Amino acid sequence: MVVVLKPNTTEEDTKHIIEKIESKGCTVHITEGAKYNILGLVGDTTRINPHQLENYSYVDQVLRVQHPFKLVNRIFHPDNTVVDVDGVKIGNGDPVIIAGPCSVESEDQLITIAKSVKASGAKLLRGGAFKPRSSPYSFQGLGEEGLKYLKKTKEVTGLPVVSEAICLDTIDLVAQYVDVVQIGARNMQNFALLKKAGRINKPILLKRGFSSTIEELLMAAEYIVSEGNPNVILCERGIRTFETYTRNTLDISAIPIIKELSHLPIIVDPSHAAGKWRMVEPLSKASMAVGADGLIIEVHNDPENALCDGAQSLKLGTFEKLMTTVC
Ligand code: PEP
Ligand code: MN
Repeated sequence: MVVVLKPNTTEEDTKHIIEKIESKGCTVHITEGAKYNILGLVGDTTRINPHQLENYSYVDQVLRVQHPFKLVNRIFHPDNTVVDVDGVKIGNGDPVIIAGPCSVESEDQLITIAKSVKASGAKLLRGGAFKPRSSPYSFQGLGEEGLKYLKKTKEVTGLPVVSEAICLDTIDLVAQYVDVVQIGARNMQNFALLKKAGRINKPILLKRGFSSTIEELLMAAEYIVSEGNPNVILCERGIRTFETYTRNTLDISAIPIIKELSHLPIIVDPSHAAGKWRMVEPLSKASMAVGADGLIIEVHNDPENALCDGAQSLKLGTFEKLMTTVC
């Protein structure tokens, strides 16, 4: 339930109605808008009678929230959330491109790629140090060594870095080294990890699970925000369908739907959606056309020999060309 207060409601009246709501067992999150202040009621609202609240002279309207997500709901927070990553703003209308290898392989590899993608216009560098691989025999990432290379590469290039945390044991370690902690598709419903992500002091890039609905994605974000971390960037990265030509099917309609439902920024990962580098540019264009706040793209200096996801990785020059056509 959301209570919209009339403009110029006094502090005293605001305090009074909040106490009234809290006495019924709900917590209240206040959003201060340019004109209206909005109270978001979180918890069991069954004991609250909306008509009683409407009786207050300073209440403009009481809206029932149909969706189970509240804190990430646009009704509760009409303005876009803008996530600030070390000065790079995601969600303010300027597209932000994140680029880099699937996995960190060496310091030289990372610095070479970072310098190149930065020159092409990328604002953040991606690179996995802990990799969630389908096979236990595949390259699992360099672990902390990879995180050290990410930190070093940031010092050299100035690009803030994004890397994935795959479990509770290592999320604090990842957060110490990087600017954005990624929760990957396979962990989107790892609720213990989501709660922990809500208690760390870094923005979270939350990727949609490949068999998850939009509502499940937003509920996963709700876990993070409800634990106290409002800086969540959502990511559509393709879902599993009957189609096998592509690795996943990019759910392009998720972007305008999420823009309508939520105030959180949403970016697209065309690389994992397609699984094929040739499709990255057209899917990038489509994503920007439907209102994505940015893209996360896999780029490698030597895709043929990449330790992970070479087939979907762009070469440095191909990424440079993409940047001239997409943004
Ligand atoms: C990744 O970004 O490297 C990754 C593993 O992505 P996803 O979780 O979307 O599969
Ligand atoms: Mn990858």
